[in-house]
Amino acid sequence: MAILVCGGAGYVGSHCLEALIAAGYDCIVADNLSRGHRQAVGLAPLYVGDIADAAFLDRIFTENRVEAVLHFAASSQVGESMQNPILYYENNLSATVSLIKGMLRHGVKKIVFSSSAAVYGEPEALPILEDSPKAPTNPYGETKLAMERFMHWCDVAYGLKYISLRYFNAAGASPAGLIGEDHTPETHLIPLVLWAAQGKRDKVSIYGEDYPTSDGTCIRDYIHTSDLAEAHRLALQRLLAGGASDIFNLGSEQGLSVREIIETAREVTGVQFPVQTAPRRPGDPAVLIASNRKAREVLGWVPRHSDARSILSSAWAWHLSHPDGFGE
Ligand code: UDP
Repeated sequence: MAILVCGGAGYVGSHCLEALIAAGYDCIVADNLSRGHRQAVGLAPLYVGDIADAAFLDRIFTENRVEAVLHFAASSQVGESMQNPILYYENNLSATVSLIKGMLRHGVKKIVFSSSAAVYGEPEALPILEDSPKAPTNPYGETKLAMERFMHWCDVAYGLKYISLRYFNAAGASPAGLIGEDHTPETHLIPLVLWAAQGKRDKVSIYGEDYPTSDGTCIRDYIHTSDLAEAHRLALQRLLAGGASDIFNLGSEQGLSVREIIETAREVTGVQFPVQTAPRRPGDPAVLIASNRKAREVLGWVPRHSDARSILSSAWAWHLSHPDGFGE
């Protein structure tokens, strides 16, 4: 029996794929390679195509005995979603409808889903709990929430069992050194900071130093891809054992400011790269911190690699060994 990893060539998907294979699961990957990288899947069988394509899905489900699906395939840039909501409703929501229709046509009823802290929007209280108010502030978060609600109704109607994992800020790279973060365009703080340390950029812009936080910069909850991968393994195990549908936050509960990330990056890399203050980025909340209590209590998940040093040193090792990312 195989596990189908949709979007397994992407950043979080490839890290979870690597961990599932290491844990002994037989995995196959579906990815359209629009943002993912062929090299990121290693030796796992790769079907290149789109989950919106029913014939493509039928071929995968016919050629393999799929037991469960991990679904990472989505567009994930907040700014792009504001410019092009149609792309996000198509690529995220419509494609997920197609995927679940395909699963149900072939009797596959278990799915671990990649959700996001973006479903909450600007938090009213911290830390953020799974049942905190959901008020997405962009089409990206809106489509993640819509996909969760869709899966809920598919459980009610068809008995689909889903575990939705709401990531906070995914960061870091696999300790094996073969995969890491490689987005085009890159908008995330940590890779941009490390590019500055490598001299690929001349400086880092800090988007706002006048937030109501201890050092004036935004605070985020960074979670290492190794910890995300372990949560996916536990969620999959739970569904395969007959567990019910559920939703979990995946964060470390440790807030780190933009300044703290920069200082840790300077320590880890030994490079005093320049920084400049830039205007706030529209839509950035001052502080986002998860409660991960439910994932600890129900899944038995313990994040072990999500301190600033572990995140930055693993990401730095990836950047040093792959200065041009996957080079694709
Ligand atoms: N950020 C920054 N400079 C950059 C990129 C990001 O100051 O060049 C800040 C951003 O405003 C946010 C934090 O770093 O407060 C994390 O941003 P990122 O885009 O990595 O993740 P997000 O929290 O938006 O998902």
